[in-house]
Amino acid sequence: MTNGKRIVVFEDDDEAFAELERVMVPRCLAVGAKVERYPGHLKWGEIEPELPNGSISNYLRSKYLDPRTTNLVLLDFLLEDYRHPVSRELVRGLSDETLVPLCVYHHEQGNISRARQTRRWQESEIAIDVSLTLDVIGNNAAVVMEGFEHIRSVVLSTATAGAEDLVEVILKAPKGVSSSIRQYSWGRAETWLGQGTGEINLLGRATMLGYWIHNQLLQFPGALVNATAAASYLGVDPRELRFGSPLFEKLASASYTGPFHELGPFWWTIGLDRIRDQFALANDETIPKGPELGRRMGLTLRPVTCAKGEEKGGYYCVITKKAICADHSVRPEGWLPLGAELCRIDTDEYEKISPYV
Ligand SMILES: [Zn+2]
Repeated sequence: MTNGKRIVVFEDDDEAFAELERVMVPRCLAVGAKVERYPGHLKWGEIEPELPNGSISNYLRSKYLDPRTTNLVLLDFLLEDYRHPVSRELVRGLSDETLVPLCVYHHEQGNISRARQTRRWQESEIAIDVSLTLDVIGNNAAVVMEGFEHIRSVVLSTATAGAEDLVEVILKAPKGVSSSIRQYSWGRAETWLGQGTGEINLLGRATMLGYWIHNQLLQFPGALVNATAAASYLGVDPRELRFGSPLFEKLASASYTGPFHELGPFWWTIGLDRIRDQFALANDETIPKGPELGRRMGLTLRPVTCAKGEEKGGYYCVITKKAICADHSVRPEGWLPLGAELCRIDTDEYEKISPYV
C-alpha cells in the first residue's frame, strides 16, 4: 500500500473514536495506512469556510470519499451528534457513487431486523454488528480494509486477465470451485467486471468484488461455509468445530484464506468433501459424515441436531444462525442469493417474520 492511504472514520463520539483508533492504528501502520477522523482536528465551524460554494457533497467527495486516497470509509450508523448537513444517508450515497469501500456498524435488534438485513447481499456496504465491543469493531474494520487492499492489488496487477481467473486468484480458490462460485448472483459486481481499465474503473471493480465476496459468498453458505454451516453440512454438532478443536485441525486443508478470512473461520465446501472422500471405504454408498466420519478420523463427535431436536442437519438458517434440516426449513424466493445452496430459513421463524419483511 502506498503512503497517504487511510481509513476515514465518521464517528461523532470522541470516546468511541479513541477506542476504534487505538485498535486500528497498529494494524493500519503495518500496511502503511493512517486512521483519520472526519472532519480531522477541526471543528465543523472551522472547516465550513473551505467548502466550495457551500457544497458539502463536493467537499466530502474530493477530500474524503475518493477511492484513490481512501481505502475504507468506516461509518457510525447513528451519527446523532454530527450537525447538519453530514448524515449517514449522505455518506452512504456518496460512497455508493464513488465506490470507495464502505463499512457501517449497525444496530441489529431481533429477528425481524435481522431478516430485513438478510437482504444486505444486495447492498453496497459491509455491515459490522454494533453489539460487538468497539475493539472488535475496530479490528474487523481493519480486516475489511486489508481484504479490499488484497482485492485491489490483484485487480490492479491483472487488469487484462479474464474475469473468471481474476475471481479465483482473489479468492485463493482451490481447483474445481468455479461453477459453484458462479452460481451466486453477481449483480453489480458482474457489470463492473466489464468496465474499462482506468485506475478509477479498476478500483470500482475491486470494491464491487469485495462487496460480492463479503456479502454473498461469506454470509450465505454454499461454495463457502462458516463454522456452524460447516458442522451442519458435516453432520456434527457445531461445538465440535470450535477454533483449535481436533476436528478443526483435521479440516485445515479446506480452510478459506482469501479476503476477509479473519472474520471467519470459513471453509471451502468442496475441500470438506475432499477430506470426507479420503475417509471413504470401497463399499460406501456416499462419502462419510457425522459421528461415522469422526470414528474414521479417530475422533468421537456428537451428531448435529436441528432446531427441532432431531439428529439431522445439513443446512444453515440465516435468521437463527443455527443448523437446520430440510424438513423444518424453507427457501423462500428472493430471500437468499442464488448459489447459496446450504442456506435455508427455519420454517417457524419464517412464518413469524415474513408478514413484516
Ligand atoms: Zn429438523
